[in-house]
Amino acid sequence: MSAKLKTSAKSRVAPKRSEGGWRKEIERVLITEAQIARRVESLAREIEKDFRGRELVIVSLLNGTVVFLADLIRQLNLPLRLDFIGVASYGTGTESGELVFTKELCLDVRGRDVLLLDDILDTGKTLHRVLPKIRALRPRRVKTCVLLDKPARRLEKIRADYVGFAIPDFFVVGYGLDFAERHRNLPFVGVLKPHVFKPA
Ligand code: 5GP
Ligand code: MG
Repeated sequence: MSAKLKTSAKSRVAPKRSEGGWRKEIERVLITEAQIARRVESLAREIEKDFRGRELVIVSLLNGTVVFLADLIRQLNLPLRLDFIGVASYGTGTESGELVFTKELCLDVRGRDVLLLDDILDTGKTLHRVLPKIRALRPRRVKTCVLLDKPARRLEKIRADYVGFAIPDFFVVGYGLDFAERHRNLPFVGVLKPHVFKPA
């Protein structure tokens, strides 16, 4: 059955989300949906300014970037192509483990302007592993963009060129970020209750 497209003002009001599902595991909202939307828009303006006149290849790290990516590219008024690298570093815990590549780049980025996108820059191990891989393909330049930055936990000397929000050392979920593959669909960034990942 297909959905009928309604155009009345009433139909444009977002339905109330059921709140029961996430309240048990989320301590509080750290960054609201509206704050994210505003920041994504201003990030897009910064990126447009720096890449004006160029065609961009956005390389997005799976799976955490999917929501951020979808919102960011719709704000970007630039010609762009999209590709993905799959990396997994978390199992079911919150500590960074061994990095495993689950999908390699397909597009040829040689001589191209690349924007590498990740959900969160934490210890820096992920970008530290991924950046040399991309640079080895001889792009014209590579810039990095992360929605969130947790500078307190940095182990590698690395910074992102574009940062949505710098946050304190909390384990956060939502807006694409998961805990054990859950909570990616929350429209906000929230702090996970410690008991969820540290069972008593
Ligand atoms: P790094 O390699 O910089 O330590 O961490 C990068 C990756 O670790 C991110 O792409 C993300 O998958 C994961 N990560 C780091 N901090 C958090 C966090 O607070 N919440 C979630 N859900 N993932 C995180
Ligand atoms: Mg990730």
